Amino acid sequence: MQIDIADLDSLLAAIVESSDDAIISKDLDGVITSWNKGAENIFGYTAAEAIGRPIAMIAVPERGDEMPRILESIRQGKRVDHYETVRRAKDGRRVNISLTVSPVRDGVGRIVGASKIARDITEKKMTEEALRKQADRLVRANADLQQFAYITSHDLQEPLRTISACTGMFLAKSGDKLDQDERQLMEYVSEAAQRLSTMINDLLTYARTLDEDLLFAPVNVGEVVEWALNNLHLSIQSIDAVISYDPQSLPTIRGNKVALVQLFQNLVSNALKYRGAATPVVHIVATRRETDWLFAVKDNGIGIAPAYQKLIFTLFQRLHASHEYPGTGIGLALCRSIVQAHGGDIWVESAEGAGATFFFNLPAGEGV
Ligand code: ADP
Repeated sequence: MQIDIADLDSLLAAIVESSDDAIISKDLDGVITSWNKGAENIFGYTAAEAIGRPIAMIAVPERGDEMPRILESIRQGKRVDHYETVRRAKDGRRVNISLTVSPVRDGVGRIVGASKIARDITEKKMTEEALRKQADRLVRANADLQQFAYITSHDLQEPLRTISACTGMFLAKSGDKLDQDERQLMEYVSEAAQRLSTMINDLLTYARTLDEDLLFAPVNVGEVVEWALNNLHLSIQSIDAVISYDPQSLPTIRGNKVALVQLFQNLVSNALKYRGAATPVVHIVATRRETDWLFAVKDNGIGIAPAYQKLIFTLFQRLHASHEYPGTGIGLALCRSIVQAHGGDIWVESAEGAGATFFFNLPAGEGV
């Protein structure tokens, strides 16, 4: 098919005119020679107002040397690619733009001007800025939480130790003079102090996992599970629990080994703690998906009603009293923070009385 040059010219002109980007040309002295609709929309000047005037009319004072530098590059035949900068619109508004400028040559190859394409990236910049502020806020909140945890663990443990020591001494010295109710009350105080001490230590462990600087390396999840089960072997033996997994099916991923051991250990120990009447059976599997691995820790325990399935991942949220099932409500919050630090998510599927399956995904990472 033969394309007529005149047709091609009008086709190009139509493309330039309909572009949302500003497409502008200027001569080597920086005088504007063409100005499309996109330029009108972004900078507020009509073509009639802009053509023949210096491009410096859209410059911002604080970037005074930028346009001469760009023109100098153009004179030397160099392009400027996706350069992010700021320009001023007719109404004085600052516009963030991404700029690409190329030399324009005449019929014999001499550089006679420049054509530039400017994309309005104000919205992108605002989103980036909002994300940066949000990230800063999170980093600050994490740092505050860590600081809080360190301070509480030091400052609160000390009076707690005094309470424990004094109640212990009091019971040893005067315990036989107390009646049964009085003794019971002192024991409550002692137990409460012990529980508080455990909570403070758990909070400290939780705050440590919020640390941005968890070191990542290739980790074999089979070894992670083995290590976690070793740590739990006394509880597993004492209740004759059956734990199954196929080591060959567990992948190697990029992660922090100690944190991942803690993750599996918390999930399996919960599966044992919240067991039903039947022999506890826990099964661990991993399934490869498109970009990640999906892990599941399935038990046949007491299960969790749907209404609580989100709540249990929140710090200190428990569904049972301590005398029923001991704990501080930090385990799953810790699991969530570990999984999130690895770029994944964690959730549970369960019905009351029908066991629970905890799922989490971790990025597969190419070549680990
Ligand atoms: P803790 O065990 O110290 O209470 P967790 O954060 O580990 O703290 O768990 C929060 C709550 O979630 C538990 O109190 C329990 O009610 C529920 N839960 C956790 N794991 C299971 C499970 N495998 N089966 C049934 N309930 C569970």
